[in-house]
Amino acid sequence: MEKIKYFCSNCGKEHEEWPALAYNSPDSFDSLSDEEKEEIAELSNDFCVITYSDQTDRFIRCTLTQEVNDHCEDLEYGLWVSLSEKSFQDYSDNYNNKNHEVTYFGWLCNDIPNYTFDESIPTSIHTRKGNARPEIVPHNDFQHPFVFDYYNGITKAEAERRINDMLRSIEQ
Ligand SMILES: [Zn+2]
Repeated sequence: MEKIKYFCSNCGKEHEEWPALAYNSPDSFDSLSDEEKEEIAELSNDFCVITYSDQTDRFIRCTLTQEVNDHCEDLEYGLWVSLSEKSFQDYSDNYNNKNHEVTYFGWLCNDIPNYTFDESIPTSIHTRKGNARPEIVPHNDFQHPFVFDYYNGITKAEAERRINDMLRSIEQ
């Protein structure tokens, strides 16, 4: 991966740009067999639908910004959330609508390494003007280390560790 440098408007110094930690699919898609992916799942850049015999799960790709306390750049995630049928339909219907600003309820659907997710994290999904991907905001009353870190920030060293872990897993 090529390292991109730019002049930071916050501190005026030249930085290496951090890559976004992006997931190409929700974890429940990744855990399907190749045959199941073919037969019951549909995946595109922004949408995923999995049709089980007893239920249908609907996911969209969003972004999440993890604040970094001792650095002028934050860590960006590309993550999937599951939406209700109604919210998913509304999001699809307005996919090309540049003035669609709404908030949905969604469950976080990617496990971030080094956290344990016994249950999904409840979040608010804010669609944005223009066609940027919606922003995930975890519910602040939910007790979980990931939610704690989201609201309290992480260190630059921790952010770099996460980036290096991601780059290593891509190279493998
Ligand atoms: Zn800077």
